Amino acid sequence: MIKTVNLQKIFKTEEVQTWALNNVNIEVKEGEFVAVMGPSGCGKSTLLNILGLLDNPSGGEYYLNGKEVSKYTEAQRTSLRKGVIGFVFQSFNLLPRMSVLVNVMLPLAYTQAPRFQREMMAVHALQAVGLPVDHYDHRTNELSGGQMQRVAIARALVNDPAIILADEPTGNLDSHTGRMVLETFHRLKDTGKTIVLITHDSHVAAEADRIVSIRDGRLYHEDTSGIISTMGGGR
Ligand code: ADP
Ligand code: MG
Repeated sequence: MIKTVNLQKIFKTEEVQTWALNNVNIEVKEGEFVAVMGPSGCGKSTLLNILGLLDNPSGGEYYLNGKEVSKYTEAQRTSLRKGVIGFVFQSFNLLPRMSVLVNVMLPLAYTQAPRFQREMMAVHALQAVGLPVDHYDHRTNELSGGQMQRVAIARALVNDPAIILADEPTGNLDSHTGRMVLETFHRLKDTGKTIVLITHDSHVAAEADRIVSIRDGRLYHEDTSGIISTMGGGR
């Protein structure tokens, strides 16, 4: 479903070059729940943004459903992303004065579907994340953090994407509400979604089927015995 070969990302400013990703080889199979773990600044968001077609790598290959997409234009990436990838962010990124239902319907604004159908799709997504029906007309700024994140997950689900990418989705939540959000990811996995979740928290990562670690732009594979082996080649 997702496969990269020697993925590179170099950020260049006038003075410095940052190797944000250095020969990253990651493979995620359909229906897998993978956690990518590492400290701040190690390249997690850079990797997720490339996997989610928000950005292109500087080098290497990215195969999404078998198609090499690393040199796609922004327009090609945007059109491929719809219906394939749903994004969840640490900061929720909801419209605060709009209702829950309107927020979840937002990604459907550019489709031809009539309003009642878009509403049905939004309700379906909200049911999948377990938000109570009497909250659908609440403004999102009236919700708790855990509810906000579940609305954001519903919004990511509304196009029925096969892949959910989540960048520190519990990073702004206390452990109890974070727990509820993680339960939501488990439910999505049970419905067959493929999930890549980024975290710097080993307790959160332990929820996944498999953990890969990043340090300084390099990816490491951790097997169940705790032995760490490198997955990338040299430069
Ligand atoms: P993480 O998500 O693990 O905290 P990031 O992927 O955001 O790390 O960043 C990895 C490295 O790349 C950091 O050194 C960061 O400063 C750098 N970086 C990220 N985005 C940019 C950018 N747009 N321009 C320049 N440097 C960047
Ligand atoms: Mg980040």
